[in-house]
Amino acid sequence: MEHIYDTIIIGGGPAGLSAGLYASRSRMDTLIIERAEFGGQVATTNEIDNYPGSIENCTGATLSKRMKQQAEEFGTQFAREEVVEVELEGDIKVIKCKDKTYKTKTIIIASGAFPRLSGFKNETELRGKGVSYCATCDADFFEDLDIAVLGGGDSAISEAIYLSKFGKTVTVIHRRSELRAAKSLQEKAFKNPKIKFVWDTIVEEAKGKEMLESLVLKNVKTGELSELKVEGCFVFVGYLPISELYKGKITMNERGDVITDENMKTNIPGVYAAGDIRVKLLRQVITASADGAIAATHAEHYIENKS
Ligand code: NAP
Repeated sequence: MEHIYDTIIIGGGPAGLSAGLYASRSRMDTLIIERAEFGGQVATTNEIDNYPGSIENCTGATLSKRMKQQAEEFGTQFAREEVVEVELEGDIKVIKCKDKTYKTKTIIIASGAFPRLSGFKNETELRGKGVSYCATCDADFFEDLDIAVLGGGDSAISEAIYLSKFGKTVTVIHRRSELRAAKSLQEKAFKNPKIKFVWDTIVEEAKGKEMLESLVLKNVKTGELSELKVEGCFVFVGYLPISELYKGKITMNERGDVITDENMKTNIPGVYAAGDIRVKLLRQVITASADGAIAATHAEHYIENKS
């Protein structure tokens, strides 16, 4: 007989793992499908200091490992596969992966977001050759070298602080003269002797034959161009939702963020969205986890009301 899950969660970051935990605790037959590492973006975040209880050098990798273990202990099943197509309508939904097709009564979409490109010349050409989007993955390569960080949000500033443990200097390049990051992060960065700031500035071009050698900077107020010699450039200019699969099937905003109600319901019965993929103001581990818990609880109610 074909297997029909109670819920399939697409994405194994904090939203997906929390949904898995709550669904399995309710004895729902639960599967999480993840195409890459479980833990999502947070797994590559060095220090987590704003998730309640995450003290004593709690890294993103440790936190996500514990989240997965906890969900597993309650019975969540896991699959490492890439979803290529979804059929969301009807009582039984279909999820097609490259090698296998799954059926389920409910779906929780928790596939998160990916780093946005800044758009400067040679950004993609020098990606992996000095241009990076993940400090935890690549910081080691820049031991005692000069590093630039682009952006002024929480990601840019927390990763600049982390990168200062490796680099000789870290220059934060921000397009305005005020940071968007949390004040506590700003204070930490301003106090750090290795971190410098270049305000009202964008990167026009990355230069380098084999590897990054310098960045061409443009002051957005004066138009003045300058060159900054750096071996590393970490880009943190925001994230975009991983929602391509659902375009035309689910209601989204113009960026592609999935629109839900406060119970994480999308416009399609039995389909929920949780975490960074949905329209929301605060994108944090704690809000992603809360979304996952709410989505799983309402998925359970949905199945109960159907039977
Ligand atoms: P974000 O908050 O959207 O910030 C993006 C930054 O990049 C902004 O400073 C923005 O400038 C700048 N920017 C955007 N497009 C640019 C471009 N084309 N060229 C140059 N600069 C550009 O993104 P994020 O920092 O990645 O954070 C995403 C979400 O994750 C947020 O909700 C954040 O709170 C959360 N997060 C939290 C933590 C934490 O709590 N420790 C850590 C990481 C991320 P403007 O300021 O001028 O718009």
